[in-house]
Amino acid sequence: MFVILLGPPGAGKGTQARLLAESLGVPRISTGDLFREEMASGSALGRSVAAYMDAGQFVPDETTIALLQRRLRAADARDGHVLDGFPRTVRQAEELDRILARRGQHLDRVIDLNVDTEALVERLAGRSMCPSCQTTYHDRIAPPRRQGLCDRCGATLVRRVDDQPETVRTRLRMYHENTEPLITYYDEAGVLSIIDGGQPPEGVTRDMFAALGMTKGSF
Ligand code: AMP
Repeated sequence: MFVILLGPPGAGKGTQARLLAESLGVPRISTGDLFREEMASGSALGRSVAAYMDAGQFVPDETTIALLQRRLRAADARDGHVLDGFPRTVRQAEELDRILARRGQHLDRVIDLNVDTEALVERLAGRSMCPSCQTTYHDRIAPPRRQGLCDRCGATLVRRVDDQPETVRTRLRMYHENTEPLITYYDEAGVLSIIDGGQPPEGVTRDMFAALGMTKGSF
Protein backbone atom coordinates (compact mmCIF):
# COMPACT_ATOMS: atom_id res chain seq x y z
CA MET A 1 0.00 0.00 0.00
CA PHE A 2 1.31 3.46 -0.92
CA VAL A 3 0.34 6.06 1.66
CA ILE A 4 1.34 9.65 2.44
CA LEU A 5 0.92 11.31 5.80
CA LEU A 6 0.41 15.01 5.27
CA GLY A 7 0.22 17.72 7.90
CA PRO A 8 2.09 20.65 9.42
CA PRO A 9 5.30 20.27 11.43
CA GLY A 10 4.41 18.93 14.89
CA ALA A 11 1.16 17.27 13.77
CA GLY A 12 2.42 13.85 14.87
CA LYS A 13 3.23 12.50 11.41
CA GLY A 14 6.41 10.74 12.57
CA THR A 15 4.77 8.79 15.37
CA GLN A 16 1.73 7.82 13.33
CA ALA A 17 3.77 6.99 10.22
CA ARG A 18 5.95 4.62 12.26
CA LEU A 19 2.90 2.79 13.65
CA LEU A 20 1.24 2.56 10.27
CA ALA A 21 4.37 1.38 8.45
CA GLU A 22 4.91 -1.34 11.04
CA SER A 23 1.31 -2.53 10.69
CA LEU A 24 1.45 -2.54 6.90
CA GLY A 25 4.91 -4.12 6.75
CA VAL A 26 6.24 -1.35 4.50
CA PRO A 27 9.01 1.18 5.17
CA ARG A 28 8.33 4.61 6.66
CA ILE A 29 10.27 7.03 4.52
CA SER A 30 10.99 10.46 6.00
CA THR A 31 12.99 12.84 3.83
CA GLY A 32 13.79 14.83 7.00
CA ASP A 33 15.37 11.73 8.59
CA LEU A 34 17.24 10.94 5.37
CA PHE A 35 18.65 14.48 5.28
CA ARG A 36 19.58 14.31 8.98
CA GLU A 37 21.41 11.03 8.35
CA GLU A 38 23.33 12.67 5.49
CA MET A 39 24.25 15.58 7.77
CA ALA A 40 25.38 13.23 10.56
CA SER A 41 27.57 11.28 8.12
CA GLY A 42 29.22 14.52 6.94
CA SER A 43 28.52 13.71 3.27
CA ALA A 44 28.61 16.39 0.57
CA LEU A 45 24.83 16.19 0.33
CA GLY A 46 24.55 16.58 4.10
CA ARG A 47 26.77 19.66 4.05
CA SER A 48 24.78 21.17 1.20
CA VAL A 49 21.42 20.88 2.98
CA ALA A 50 22.45 21.84 6.53
CA ALA A 51 21.85 25.58 6.15
CA TYR A 52 18.33 25.06 4.78
CA MET A 53 17.40 22.61 7.50
CA ASP A 54 18.77 24.61 10.41
CA ALA A 55 16.87 27.68 9.18
CA GLY A 56 13.60 25.75 8.72
CA GLN A 57 13.66 26.41 4.96
CA PHE A 58 12.87 23.77 2.36
CA VAL A 59 15.71 21.96 0.67
CA PRO A 60 15.42 22.68 -3.10
CA ASP A 61 13.01 20.38 -4.98
CA GLU A 62 15.67 18.86 -7.29
CA THR A 63 17.80 17.71 -4.34
CA THR A 64 14.82 16.39 -2.39
CA ILE A 65 13.28 14.56 -5.33
CA ALA A 66 16.62 12.94 -6.22
CA LEU A 67 17.03 11.75 -2.63
CA LEU A 68 13.53 10.30 -2.50
CA GLN A 69 13.86 8.67 -5.90
CA ARG A 70 17.02 6.89 -4.74
CA ARG A 71 15.28 5.66 -1.57
CA LEU A 72 12.24 4.42 -3.51
CA ARG A 73 14.49 2.27 -5.67
CA ALA A 74 15.45 0.12 -2.66
CA ALA A 75 13.90 -3.36 -2.65
CA ASP A 76 11.93 -2.80 0.58
CA ALA A 77 10.02 0.10 -1.01
CA ARG A 78 8.90 -1.79 -4.11
CA ASP A 79 5.43 -2.73 -2.91
CA GLY A 80 4.53 0.08 -0.58
CA HIS A 81 5.60 2.92 1.67
CA VAL A 82 4.40 5.42 4.21
CA LEU A 83 5.83 8.80 3.29
CA ASP A 84 6.38 11.31 6.08
CA GLY A 85 7.47 14.83 5.15
CA PHE A 86 7.35 14.27 1.40
CA PRO A 87 5.89 15.75 -0.73
CA ARG A 88 5.98 19.31 0.58
CA THR A 89 5.39 21.13 -2.72
CA VAL A 90 3.08 20.59 -5.69
CA ARG A 91 6.16 19.98 -7.86
CA GLN A 92 7.27 17.16 -5.52
CA ALA A 93 3.74 15.68 -5.57
CA GLU A 94 3.63 15.71 -9.38
CA GLU A 95 7.06 14.10 -9.52
CA LEU A 96 6.00 11.35 -7.10
CA ASP A 97 2.93 10.62 -9.24
CA ARG A 98 5.22 10.26 -12.25
CA ILE A 99 7.70 8.00 -10.43
CA LEU A 100 4.90 5.67 -9.30
CA ALA A 101 3.16 5.74 -12.69
CA ARG A 102 6.39 4.68 -14.43
CA ARG A 103 6.36 1.63 -12.13
CA GLY A 104 2.68 0.93 -12.88
CA GLN A 105 1.76 1.99 -9.34
CA HIS A 106 -0.28 4.75 -7.75
CA LEU A 107 -1.01 6.30 -4.37
CA ASP A 108 -3.68 4.49 -2.38
CA ARG A 109 -4.40 7.18 0.18
CA VAL A 110 -3.18 10.52 1.53
CA ILE A 111 -4.02 11.18 5.16
CA ASP A 112 -3.99 14.78 6.31
CA LEU A 113 -3.51 15.30 10.05
CA ASN A 114 -5.36 18.52 10.75
CA VAL A 115 -4.08 20.49 13.79
CA ASP A 116 -4.53 24.18 14.62
CA THR A 117 -1.45 26.39 14.59
CA GLU A 118 -1.53 27.40 18.28
CA ALA A 119 -1.31 23.76 19.34
CA LEU A 120 1.61 23.19 16.96
CA VAL A 121 3.87 25.85 18.42
CA GLU A 122 3.36 24.37 21.90
CA ARG A 123 3.92 20.83 20.67
CA LEU A 124 7.15 21.64 18.85
CA ALA A 125 8.57 23.73 21.69
CA GLY A 126 8.42 20.78 24.12
CA ARG A 127 9.59 18.15 21.69
CA SER A 128 12.65 15.96 22.10
CA MET A 129 13.83 13.12 19.97
CA CYS A 130 15.99 10.01 20.12
CA PRO A 131 18.98 10.45 17.78
CA SER A 132 19.35 6.68 17.55
CA CYS A 133 15.86 5.28 16.83
CA GLN A 134 14.08 8.59 16.04
CA THR A 135 11.29 8.10 18.58
CA THR A 136 9.80 11.46 19.53
CA TYR A 137 8.75 12.64 22.99
CA HIS A 138 7.11 15.71 24.47
CA ASP A 139 7.84 17.24 27.89
CA ARG A 140 4.14 17.40 28.76
CA ILE A 141 2.17 15.24 26.31
CA ALA A 142 4.44 12.22 25.95
CA PRO A 143 7.38 12.33 28.40
CA PRO A 144 9.89 9.46 28.44
CA ARG A 145 9.77 7.15 31.48
CA ARG A 146 13.28 8.24 32.52
CA GLN A 147 13.92 11.94 31.98
CA GLY A 148 16.12 12.65 28.98
CA LEU A 149 16.44 8.99 27.95
CA CYS A 150 14.74 7.04 25.16
CA ASP A 151 12.23 4.39 26.36
CA ARG A 152 12.99 2.15 23.39
CA CYS A 153 16.79 2.18 23.21
CA GLY A 154 18.09 4.18 26.20
CA ALA A 155 19.93 6.82 24.13
CA THR A 156 20.14 10.41 25.41
CA LEU A 157 17.35 12.50 23.87
CA VAL A 158 18.12 15.65 21.89
CA ARG A 159 16.12 18.69 20.84
CA ARG A 160 16.10 19.54 17.16
CA VAL A 161 17.86 22.78 16.24
CA ASP A 162 14.89 23.67 14.06
CA ASP A 163 12.40 23.37 16.96
CA GLN A 164 13.42 26.79 18.31
CA PRO A 165 10.47 29.23 18.29
CA GLU A 166 11.78 31.50 15.50
CA THR A 167 12.54 28.54 13.24
CA VAL A 168 9.21 26.93 14.07
CA ARG A 169 7.47 30.06 12.79
CA THR A 170 9.42 29.82 9.53
CA ARG A 171 8.52 26.14 9.16
CA LEU A 172 4.83 26.83 9.74
CA ARG A 173 4.88 29.65 7.19
CA MET A 174 6.62 27.38 4.67
CA TYR A 175 3.96 24.77 5.33
CA HIS A 176 1.03 27.16 4.82
CA GLU A 177 2.49 28.68 1.66
CA ASN A 178 3.81 25.57 -0.06
CA THR A 179 2.41 22.38 1.43
CA GLU A 180 -1.20 23.27 2.24
CA PRO A 181 -2.07 23.44 -1.50
CA LEU A 182 -1.43 19.68 -1.58
CA ILE A 183 -4.69 19.18 0.34
CA THR A 184 -6.59 20.42 -2.73
CA TYR A 185 -4.24 18.53 -5.06
CA TYR A 186 -4.97 15.18 -3.42
CA ASP A 187 -8.63 15.95 -2.81
CA GLU A 188 -9.04 16.47 -6.55
CA ALA A 189 -7.21 13.18 -7.12
CA GLY A 190 -9.84 11.48 -4.92
CA VAL A 191 -7.35 9.97 -2.47
CA LEU A 192 -7.56 12.38 0.47
CA SER A 193 -8.79 11.65 4.01
CA ILE A 194 -8.66 14.45 6.58
CA ILE A 195 -8.52 13.39 10.21
CA ASP A 196 -8.38 15.31 13.49
CA GLY A 197 -4.71 15.41 14.49
CA GLY A 198 -5.50 17.42 17.63
CA GLN A 199 -6.95 14.49 19.55
CA PRO A 200 -4.85 12.12 21.71
CA PRO A 201 -2.47 9.90 19.68
CA GLU A 202 -4.59 6.74 20.09
CA GLY A 203 -7.57 8.52 18.53
CA VAL A 204 -5.44 9.68 15.60
CA THR A 205 -4.21 6.12 15.09
CA ARG A 206 -7.76 4.74 15.18
CA ASP A 207 -9.01 7.30 12.64
CA MET A 208 -5.97 6.75 10.42
CA PHE A 209 -6.55 3.00 10.29
CA ALA A 210 -10.27 3.56 9.69
CA ALA A 211 -9.44 5.85 6.74
CA LEU A 212 -7.48 2.97 5.25
CA GLY A 213 -10.29 0.50 5.84
CA MET A 214 -8.29 -1.20 8.57
CA THR A 215 -9.63 -1.92 12.04
CA LYS A 216 -7.89 -3.37 15.08
CA GLY A 217 -7.54 -7.08 14.41
CA SER A 218 -7.16 -6.65 10.64
CA PHE A 219 -3.43 -5.92 10.95
P1 AMP B 1 11.05 17.07 8.92
O1 AMP B 1 11.84 16.12 9.73
O2 AMP B 1 10.08 16.38 8.00
O3 AMP B 1 10.39 18.13 9.75
O4 AMP B 1 12.08 17.83 7.96
C1 AMP B 1 13.12 18.61 8.50
C2 AMP B 1 13.68 19.55 7.45
O5 AMP B 1 14.19 18.78 6.35
C3 AMP B 1 12.67 20.50 6.82
O6 AMP B 1 12.45 21.65 7.62
C4 AMP B 1 13.39 20.81 5.51
O7 AMP B 1 14.47 21.69 5.74
C5 AMP B 1 13.97 19.46 5.12
N1 AMP B 1 13.01 18.67 4.33
C6 AMP B 1 12.48 17.46 4.68
N2 AMP B 1 11.65 17.01 3.74
C7 AMP B 1 11.62 17.96 2.76
C8 AMP B 1 10.91 18.09 1.53
N3 AMP B 1 10.04 17.15 1.11
N4 AMP B 1 11.14 19.20 0.78
C9 AMP B 1 12.02 20.14 1.18
N5 AMP B 1 12.69 20.10 2.34
C10 AMP B 1 12.51 19.01 3.14
